[in-house]
Amino acid sequence: MSVTGREGPPPPAPEPLGVETVDSHCHLDAMGQPVAEAVAAAQAVGVRRMITVGDTMESSRWCAATAAAFDDVYAAVAVHPNEVADFTDADADELAQLATLPNVRAVGETGLDYYWGRVERNVQQDAFRTHIEIAKRVGKALVIHDRDAHDDVLRILDEVGAPERTVFHCFSGDISISKHCVDRGYYLSFAGTITFKNADTLREAASIVPLEQLLVETDAPFLTPAPYRGRPNAPYLIPLTVRALAAVLRVDADDVAGATGQNARRVFGPW
Ligand SMILES: [Zn+2]
Ligand SMILES: [Zn+2]
Repeated sequence: MSVTGREGPPPPAPEPLGVETVDSHCHLDAMGQPVAEAVAAAQAVGVRRMITVGDTMESSRWCAATAAAFDDVYAAVAVHPNEVADFTDADADELAQLATLPNVRAVGETGLDYYWGRVERNVQQDAFRTHIEIAKRVGKALVIHDRDAHDDVLRILDEVGAPERTVFHCFSGDISISKHCVDRGYYLSFAGTITFKNADTLREAASIVPLEQLLVETDAPFLTPAPYRGRPNAPYLIPLTVRALAAVLRVDADDVAGATGQNARRVFGPW
């Protein structure tokens, strides 16, 4: 995906976290910055590790190779629901192969995107089912992209059985959806959207999530947290989201950082 539309200088580094955590979802291949620089900037503020997430075959290969080459970077591999128009059996076989690599820790991002509606719904659903099956077969976590498709995502997970570790990336549902996910034992990953002014429904949804099921992410280079919306996002901005989430949960930022770091290890580890 292109990074056009994100303008201005990179936001300043936030105050470092008191406890290390993990950016559970970013796209290092789309950031236009050397990986070593992005990792160093993140680690300087306590974002010790990150998961770089594939959204096409090419990007999945890149993420797998990058996770093999860099300490503290791990990968997820998949074809994004907006990109599955031509998803083939050969692609599924290659993803399953990539998913067995030691530093590839998840299958994703996969799921359903009815907001853009770029690919027919039944085609998206077939590809989603295939990705779920791969995650279960190789025993890795599942990372879900769900945009305006909550009911069908939840229904399909119930139908086929969710993998043991299932993550809703950039969680975007309301409190009824977050309750459902919590009941099922899913992990809810919150992005910079939790800092947005008009996100009261999202904050209400987050407020009932137990610390044990919480993750944080940037989805960089997208979804830059407030007050830097529109500027380039990167893993070093996680502290902004951690602090916003701590305010919603009325706990200390160190507690959110610590819990999300431990949860990330449970989902994507061991390191
Ligand atoms: Zn996504
Ligand atoms: Zn993403």
